[in-house]
Amino acid sequence: MFGGPPVHLMWSGNYSQSKPQVRKVDVRRIGRFFAPYWVQESLVLACILAGSLAGLVPPIVTARIIDRAIPHHSLRELLIDVGIIVVSALFAMVVGIYQGYLNSVVGEGIMRDIRTSLVAHLHKMPLAFFTGTKTGEIMNRVSNDVDNIDNVVTGTLTSIVTNFVMIATTLVAMFVMNWRLSLLAIVVVPLMILPLAPVGRRMYEIRKRTREKRDEIESITQETLSISGITLIKSFAREAYERARFYDVGTRLMKLEISLAMVGRWFIGAITAMVVVGPALVWLGGGWLAIKGQLSTGVIVAFVTLIVGRLYGPAATLAGIQVQIVSALAVFERIFEYLDMETEPYDAPSARALTEIRGDIVFENVRFSYAHDRTALDGVSFHVTPGQLAAFVGPSGAGKTTITQLVPRFYDPQSGRVCIDGTDVRTITLDSLRSGIGIVTQETYLFHDSIENNLRYARPDASEEQVHAAARAANIHDFILSLPDGYATIVGERGHKLSGGERQRLAIARVLLKDPRILILDEATSSLDSHNEAAIQAALDPLMRGRTSLVIAHRLSTILSADVIFVIEGGRVVEQGTHGVLLARGGAYARLYRKQFREDARSTIAT
Ligand code: ATP
Repeated sequence: MFGGPPVHLMWSGNYSQSKPQVRKVDVRRIGRFFAPYWVQESLVLACILAGSLAGLVPPIVTARIIDRAIPHHSLRELLIDVGIIVVSALFAMVVGIYQGYLNSVVGEGIMRDIRTSLVAHLHKMPLAFFTGTKTGEIMNRVSNDVDNIDNVVTGTLTSIVTNFVMIATTLVAMFVMNWRLSLLAIVVVPLMILPLAPVGRRMYEIRKRTREKRDEIESITQETLSISGITLIKSFAREAYERARFYDVGTRLMKLEISLAMVGRWFIGAITAMVVVGPALVWLGGGWLAIKGQLSTGVIVAFVTLIVGRLYGPAATLAGIQVQIVSALAVFERIFEYLDMETEPYDAPSARALTEIRGDIVFENVRFSYAHDRTALDGVSFHVTPGQLAAFVGPSGAGKTTITQLVPRFYDPQSGRVCIDGTDVRTITLDSLRSGIGIVTQETYLFHDSIENNLRYARPDASEEQVHAAARAANIHDFILSLPDGYATIVGERGHKLSGGERQRLAIARVLLKDPRILILDEATSSLDSHNEAAIQAALDPLMRGRTSLVIAHRLSTILSADVIFVIEGGRVVEQGTHGVLLARGGAYARLYRKQFREDARSTIAT
């Protein structure tokens, strides 16, 4: 009877289990991030080429000084040669500065683009992802991993091209000067490169583990330094434990970093030795040719200068760059892993925007579980007509919150349907669906911003009059005006500079400003004093007026005024009706009422 939705409209709930595995990185995909900056990248290439050619000038001119200017006793030639060296150095400097600027433009631009797509993608991730992932890990990817991209772009890639061009131009110059000496000079190069493969693999492994440790450190920091976390630590006096825990992870990270630093040490030592041995070989061969009168001293000096500065160094860097490339790919891997995660379902092609919501809500035999093994809702059916106030009551863990979360599609049921105005919510565009629903949860979230901006979050284009009217209706306007900075008061991290009751009234004002047709309200369980209680009640009245309200009720006044009460137990609606009818029946509601609300009733009468 209840036709299920097309499969592509559903998405799975459990993210701790369904994270995609790390896959091979698609280089073309990385290239797509570079494409918009092709003009700057081409200029960088031109700069590298120009800089490299300019770098060839000093050694070659040095050879001329030794072989011609000095033997000819020509001060004029000497001055010209030195002048050429100075000009080439200045030119290389200017080109280098411009290249640095271009590198920053490309690197920072790509970082901004990747970070924005990552954050935009995360905004579209379903709630299940956030309940299953540590905030610190998410933060680490968005900040540190993306920062690493900058190294990749401005460091690794430029380094590859620069060194490659440098080696190529140097080799050409060397072979033009003397091919036999050139062969001798490049003999030692393979000796530098061969030992690299195992070093590279080991470095990659350690880098990967280092990154995981950083995730862990970020998570601990996030958890323990948030207001709720720090309150918990203080109230249980667990500072020493937390310090030890942090020290422990820190120590493991430290050890990894030390092994990373040590892994290439002997290899770097070998390269240093080659840098000494190579020129010695050139002196041996070149000296022998010079003794036989076949080569000038200037050429030998130029060769040694060239190979030390422009051949061995770049060759060693290029040899080591494989490690950097693999590490860079690992960074992209981590970023793509997030970008590839399944977001909330895109609207189906046939999805339509709901323009005028009346507020008729129907649950048809809805079954839902967060994880596969435990059922949260086990065949829930009910009907709330437009404008009704529906109260949901029941023991803790019965499934009340879950029911309310299916309406704005924070989750989709595994079977059954949730309909608004007769339309399955899965065939309504997410935007229009959520614009029509206002939610006030127990845990009020406010941004660390002014009261005014927090209220305007619901409707950025609201006039000042509308903002004040909403605050007035929520019974918080006078309080706001009594603050020294009024509406400009900064509410503090998560609004913790305000009391719980004040935060809730602000949240109510925020939803009033949104003015949705459907209201979902999770009443605060914590008992407030009678003054605050009355203030909240006064704020709630205009909020519920004229809307369909689904309220997880914890107040007697709410259930008494409800048009219909649904009693939820074990993920099912076990009873429904008005207070009087249900009480008279003497079933689950009557028991619950006696247990939960009678105290409330007594105190209401007493006050
Ligand atoms: P309370 O009155 O205590 O808030 P509730 O009636 O609102 O309880 P729900 O929050 O809907 O109950 O929870 C229903 C069941 O689903 C519970 O068994 C709970 O442990 C489980 N549950 C709730 N949220 C999640 C989640 N994100 N992932 C896995 N299980 C969850």
